[in-house]
Parts: sequence; C-alpha cells; structure tokens
Amino acid sequence: MTEILDGKKLRDKIFAGLKTKLDRMSEKPTLAVILAGNDPASQIYVRNKKKTAENLGINSIVIEYPADVTETELLAKISELNNDKKISAILVQLPLPKQIDKFRIIDAILPQKDVDGLTPYNLGKLFAGEQPYVYPCTPKGILLLLDEYGINPAEKHVVVIGRSNLVGKPVAQMLLQRNATVTMCHSHTTNLPDITKTADIVVSAVGKNIIGEKMLKSNCVVVDVGIYRDETGKVRGDVDFEGVSNIAAYISPVPGGVGPMTIASLMLNTVELFERNKQSL
Ligand code: NAP
Repeated sequence: MTEILDGKKLRDKIFAGLKTKLDRMSEKPTLAVILAGNDPASQIYVRNKKKTAENLGINSIVIEYPADVTETELLAKISELNNDKKISAILVQLPLPKQIDKFRIIDAILPQKDVDGLTPYNLGKLFAGEQPYVYPCTPKGILLLLDEYGINPAEKHVVVIGRSNLVGKPVAQMLLQRNATVTMCHSHTTNLPDITKTADIVVSAVGKNIIGEKMLKSNCVVVDVGIYRDETGKVRGDVDFEGVSNIAAYISPVPGGVGPMTIASLMLNTVELFERNKQSL
C-alpha cells in the first residue's frame, strides 16, 4: 500500500508550532516581498504568502512594480530594505520581467535577510558543506517531509531530476550532506528510465509529466515537485500518480505534497532570520 507524503498535514503541524511561538513574541518578524510585473501565477503566490504570514502573526509588506520596472529601481529598493532594521526577510518573487538580470537582483539581497537562501553567499555555504543563514525553501521542505515519514536518505541512491538553482541543485547538495548517493538528471540525460529504475528515492522537479510506473523500482519513494496545468487546466505534477501508486512505497501528491512544504519553509525561514538578526544586525 502506497503511503502519501502529506505536505498539508505537516505544514499545519509546523504552522501550529510557529503560531504558538509568534504569539509569545512581543516584537514580530517582517517579511518584505518584491513583486515585479503582472504574471498571474506570481500574483496568486504572493497573495498567499502575505495571507499566510499575517495569519501566523508575521508582518508582511508587498512592494509592487509594473512590468517595465528598471534594474536601478529594484536595486534601490533592495538596498533600502537591507538597511531597514524593521525588515527581517526579503523575497524577490521570480520570474522577473525579461529586461531584469535576476542574478544581479538576487545578489543584492543581504545574505542575512535572504529568506529564499538563493544569494551566492548562502548557496555557496550550502555547496561548501557549511551552514547557510537559511536553506532554500523547496529543498528544505522536501527534507522536512522525508524526515516526518522516517525516510532517511543516508546510504540510499537518490535520483534528482532537474538542475535549477531553486530546487534541483540545492536539494541534491542537501541530500549529499545527509549521506545519500545522488545522481542528477536533466533534459540532456539520455537514459532516464535506466537511471530512475535504480533509485531508492526519486525527486522530480521538471514541470512536465515524465515519470511513469515502468521507470521505477518497487518500494521506492517518489517526491513530485513539478507543477503545471494540463490542457484541461487541471494542476498536475511530474508523476503519473495512479500508475506510480501501484509500485511506490511513498509518494507526494500534487497538489498537497511539496507545495505546502515550500510555504511552511518560507515561514520557518522568516522567523529564523528574525531571531538571528535581532542578535547580530
Ligand atoms: P526549471 O528551472 O524550469 O528547471 C526544470 C529542470 O527540468 C531543468 O533542469 C531541465 O533541464 C529539466 N528538464 C526539462 N525537461 C526534462 C526532461 N524531459 N527530462 C529530464 N529533465 C528535464 O524549473 P524549477 O524552478 O526547478 O521548477 C521545476 C518544477 O517544479 C516546475 O514545475 C515548478 O513549477 C515546480 N516547483 C514547485 C515548487 C513547489 O513548491 N511545489 C517550488 C518550485 C518549483 P535543463 O537544465 O537541461 O534545461
């Protein structure tokens, strides 16, 4: 019987703990979110982050810019937020409008306020095997979900599909640090089913339906990070959930798996940065 890796349930448990902690704090963290352009999915994500933060007792401000915003304007705002003692955490919602160099923008965030853990400082610390200020939200959420179900990646073969800075690369590093043997795959991997067939754990972060039951070995763990809408508008993951349920020991659903864990990690990171910055900034 396949067990569901229930991200909503764990998110609610994490939120209950965070709410209790925040209720006891006299001063609250503040999360600042920069939203540039009018991507409808980004607008929904940002609205949800703000609402979630406020429900927990975290202050949240959203700074919106039109699609023709300049890099200079964004850099000036980040500098202002970096220097504002009231701001605990800064998030720049991606994707940014096409005229903006996202690396320049992310690089400008003070690492101590980089709630996504995506600045070169924090990613560099992670890749060097040192402690970043915070771990990137989706990879952190995946590890929390595995831990919750007692799935220890040590000595396991983990196949990560997708090599983005946001998900694939950092989750592979975090799994390496947990003593997994990690294989990374991407769009130029020619023999994907041969590789996934040898995996104890598959983490798929692609955004296309690419994983079927024939690609997996019995009793493996499948973490589905992908999100996309099919031709009918339905939200889907990378994995054929019905088919894979016949063979996997654990599977994370879409929606309700990694998505809720990403937002839980964002809230955890905001509180962690607030507590650390209070002592050092
Ligand atoms: P991304 O930057 O677009 O990366 C996608 C990766 O998939 C790339 O490395 C690409 O390879 C690889 N790929 C594409 N086609 C492939 C194929 N046929 N076989 C194997 N690999 C293939 O995306 P991302 O930001 O990492 O996000 C990945 C997915 O996760 C998206 O659906 C996104 O919406 C979702 N996501 C979900 C959450 C959540 O909270 N649930 C959070 C973040 C992202 P190349 O490098 O060779 O192009």
